[in-house]
Amino acid sequence: MHTLIAGPQQHTYLVARPGARRGVQLRAARYDELAAADAADALVPEWLVDAARKTWALDLAGRPVHGTVVVRARTRLNYSRATWELNKGCNFNCAMCYLAQRTFEGLPWSEKARLIDMFCEAGVLWLQFTGGEPTIDRDLLEAYAYAYERGMLLEILTNGSRLHRDDVLGTLMRMRPHKVTVSLYGASEEAADSLTRTRGSFRLVMKGLEAARAAGLPVEITLIITKHNEHEADAMRGIAREYADQFSEYGSISPTYDGQPDPLAAQSPCFLGGNTVFQGCPAGHTFFHVGPFGLATMCKIGRENPIDLMTTGVAGLLGLQALRHLPGLPPAGEGVPDREGTTGELLPTS
Ligand code: SF4
Repeated sequence: MHTLIAGPQQHTYLVARPGARRGVQLRAARYDELAAADAADALVPEWLVDAARKTWALDLAGRPVHGTVVVRARTRLNYSRATWELNKGCNFNCAMCYLAQRTFEGLPWSEKARLIDMFCEAGVLWLQFTGGEPTIDRDLLEAYAYAYERGMLLEILTNGSRLHRDDVLGTLMRMRPHKVTVSLYGASEEAADSLTRTRGSFRLVMKGLEAARAAGLPVEITLIITKHNEHEADAMRGIAREYADQFSEYGSISPTYDGQPDPLAAQSPCFLGGNTVFQGCPAGHTFFHVGPFGLATMCKIGRENPIDLMTTGVAGLLGLQALRHLPGLPPAGEGVPDREGTTGELLPTS
């Protein structure tokens, strides 16, 4: 199994290690050298051995590039990040869910694999599996393993209820995710189960968080604060500090993405987020979203004019890129500044 991923990213090239936050920036000539070494079955070049030692305390001396580094191909589409709603089905029934219907359906495995190839071809380095609840999809672990092998940094956005399972945990321990983001719906059974409208949901989430912590997985927690749990906000922050590397709070509830207002009834007026000035958005530019049947849109919320990737192939994404010229979107090509050899926190270009 590979140790590193190297590939183009906007105006530069990066080397990343799955599960590690730090990465290394390269110039094009170094990337070309690495790609040539991969094709020739040569050893990891000295400059990368040094960088891997300094950045991740890894010893790659004497190891071949092939099998150690996934060298991602250049791409004309140049995307960085995508979210993939594998399946809208969910084992919870949250009062504030932005999905109007949570149907248990999606692509068959062969089409999922074809879609993962398209993410690769589009240049996606950061891929988020989401839902519904992605862990309920029967192909999630196979899809995760295949995307990992293709050289992507993976995130699972989950309600945490199946994180404790041996098959899920085992896969994530063997193939480390970039992060696992768990939504927390309360600090007690009473509050959380009333928001999820699912008996036993809090107990399962805590079991998942315990298991993830014991396995040393990189966990982030999103606190979903509503009328059901606002009185437990401090206790929820306490759980987040105990179980996660980072956490964020989310109190501004959205209508369903097809415009139904029902989820807004759960919103707590005390926890509405402050308004910020719109600074532009990477949707359709460096980022896109794909639904359970391969329909690509600019983001999870704006689902107008979807492109059916299973019919168009990856070239269909050019249709999203045409929207780059809308007012407010940043110009194409904004991205990582050119600092050869520097290491730093590895964040998506958005
Ligand atoms: S866990 Fe997420 S997808 Fe499932 S019902 Fe709750 S908000 Fe919706």
